[in-house]
Amino acid sequence: MVDPFQTTSSAIVQVFSPYEIHFNEINFSKHMFIDKLYIMEYREMMRMKAVFIDRDGTIGGTDQVEYPGEMKLFPSTEQLIQQLKDLGYLVYSFTNQPDVSRGKVMEVDFVKELTKFGFDGVYLCPHTHEDGCHCRKPLPGMLIRAAEENDLQLQECIVIGDRWTDLLAAHEAGCKKILVKTGAGLESFHKYKNKEYYGKWAHVQPEYIAENLKDAVQWIV
Ligand SMILES: [Mg+2]
Repeated sequence: MVDPFQTTSSAIVQVFSPYEIHFNEINFSKHMFIDKLYIMEYREMMRMKAVFIDRDGTIGGTDQVEYPGEMKLFPSTEQLIQQLKDLGYLVYSFTNQPDVSRGKVMEVDFVKELTKFGFDGVYLCPHTHEDGCHCRKPLPGMLIRAAEENDLQLQECIVIGDRWTDLLAAHEAGCKKILVKTGAGLESFHKYKNKEYYGKWAHVQPEYIAENLKDAVQWIV
C-alpha cells in the first residue's frame, strides 16, 4: 500500500538531497517532519543572504575601539540582530581589530562576546595596515571569504557600518551598503555630503543612510 505521507516525504527528500539532511536525527511526526522540511527549504533559500554589521560605533560604543567587556551596546542591538535572524538572514560581525596582532587583546575574547550578542559568526581582521593583509577593511577580503564559506550571493548581502572603510569594502564586494550616523558615522556622513572622499572612495554610494542600527534594520525589513 502506498503511504501518501511517505510519498510526499520522498518527493521532498529528493528536492532537499543536496543539503544532506540526517533523517534519523529528526524525531518528529510525519506532519511535523514535512513542516520542518519546508522551514529548512525557506532557511536554505534565505541563507544566500547575510547582513554584515561593523562592531565599534555601529552596534555600540563610540568612534574609538573598546575591548570586550568595555563596550556598551546601543539599546535593542541584540533584539535587532535576532529580528534579522528571524527573517532568515545570517548575521555576521564584521570588524577590524589591529590590537589583536599588536598583542594587546585576544581575538577569542572578541569572538566570545560577539557570539553572545547573537551573531551567527564573526569575521575579524586582526592585522595592522602594515601587515599588508587582504582582509583589513576597506579591502573586501572578509566578505569574499564569508561568501565562499557560507555560499552567499554578495550582491544580496548588506553591510552596515559607521566608517567609509566599511562601505568601501562592501562596494568592492558588490554588497548593499548602509551608513549609520552613530560612532564615527556623523563625520563620515558630513565628509560624504561635502564631497570630501576622493578616488575610489568617492564612487561609494550608500543605499541608505540611517540614524542608527535600529533605523538600518527597519529599512531592511
Ligand atoms: Mg566602526
